[in-house]
Amino acid sequence: MDAPTVWLETLGCSKNQVDSDKIAVVLADAGYEGAASPETADVVMVNTCGFIDAARRESIDTILAMSEVKRDQAGLVVMGCMAQRYEQELRDALPEADAVIGLDRYPGIVEELDRVTQWEPITIGGVRRSKMDILEVVARPTPETPYAYVKVAEGCNKTCSFCAIPLIRGKQRSRPGDGIVAEVEALVSGGVQEVVLVAQDLAAYGRDNGSGSIEALVERCAGVSGLGRLRLYYLYPREIRQGLIDLIAQHPVIADYFDLSLQHASAQLLRSMRRPGSGEAHLDLISRIREASPQAATRSSFIVGFPGETDDDVEELAAFLREARLDWAGFFPYSKEDGTDAALLDGQVGPETIGERLRYLHDIQDEITAGSNAALVGSTMEVLVDQVEDGQPVGRSYREAPEIDGMILLDEGTPGEWVRARVDGAYGADLSATVVA
Ligand code: SF4
Repeated sequence: MDAPTVWLETLGCSKNQVDSDKIAVVLADAGYEGAASPETADVVMVNTCGFIDAARRESIDTILAMSEVKRDQAGLVVMGCMAQRYEQELRDALPEADAVIGLDRYPGIVEELDRVTQWEPITIGGVRRSKMDILEVVARPTPETPYAYVKVAEGCNKTCSFCAIPLIRGKQRSRPGDGIVAEVEALVSGGVQEVVLVAQDLAAYGRDNGSGSIEALVERCAGVSGLGRLRLYYLYPREIRQGLIDLIAQHPVIADYFDLSLQHASAQLLRSMRRPGSGEAHLDLISRIREASPQAATRSSFIVGFPGETDDDVEELAAFLREARLDWAGFFPYSKEDGTDAALLDGQVGPETIGERLRYLHDIQDEITAGSNAALVGSTMEVLVDQVEDGQPVGRSYREAPEIDGMILLDEGTPGEWVRARVDGAYGADLSATVVA
């Protein structure tokens, strides 16, 4: 029997993408081959996201869509956060799934696939490497994009009352710095220009096991020869020390981009979320960032409709947004997560009210984002070309994180190329720019 072919469909965040990349390597190492499409695959694997309601719905829709496209003989495997959290429920509810594999069971993923495919694996000298720890450095396929995510820690030691991540992914486990740097080096030598370091609580890196400080890690990664840009994702406000701000502001390779996870501006709601700070403390942090780096781009995400949220709280958040003038912000409807303390709180807010509040806050932020983009017209930026879409080159400066912020539409450029471009138009979140000599 030929080696079975596998299609890996990845949903959710960049951390899931990293898991999928590594699993692809482990499967290839075990003799499995990549499929050209889900339709032609012997096994379709769906790496699910179980973080919030909407993500779970998307995961279920994708699983069902994949069960439609798979050929009669093909296997369907469900993995990822949702599989970790609802393994038994998924087994019961989705008889079309041949295996449901939570994160804990990734070390046995090859054996599971052997079972699903009933494939007799190829062994060399009786040995088959098939064990993996998801945090171990395994070589990764070079991504098709000129950017790649590198996960520096798994899990989280915080106890935010709304969040199921510590229940799903466990306590924080930081990877040793040497392995992270080796992974960055391998990606760069494969052609990657921009690396995004990710963790649930990035600035707390190393605190769990003495792997070193985030500042030391970032400096080492930024020093990898040939790396054009390093970006950091998810900075918990109280963990952002002045030394980290200064390092980001001063190092030429590190993007002056601060992805702050602020969640709300009402001190009373933040307390109930078991998060530090207040709108005032957030503003103080933002002004320290702008003092160190006047051109810094700022992003945050906010939860809307947390139990007990009043109209006054929403107004407080709106006032904060107007004053903070973040370049980018995401607003997420509160999602009641099983097993979290917030799920037990009184004052759950109805979906209609949440919808109205989301629209209100989005409108405010859209205007701010469009304004900060419009102010860039006439300026010149270093842009990394990500892709060419229908003949249109598209790239990003330090201000835009991949897949989440706006894009820069260019008149020329090839993927992976750095160009200097003058901004000549602003369209909401996106910019157009002309390459200059
Ligand atoms: S810091 Fe982030 S991942 Fe950790 S518990 Fe809070 S919201 Fe969840």
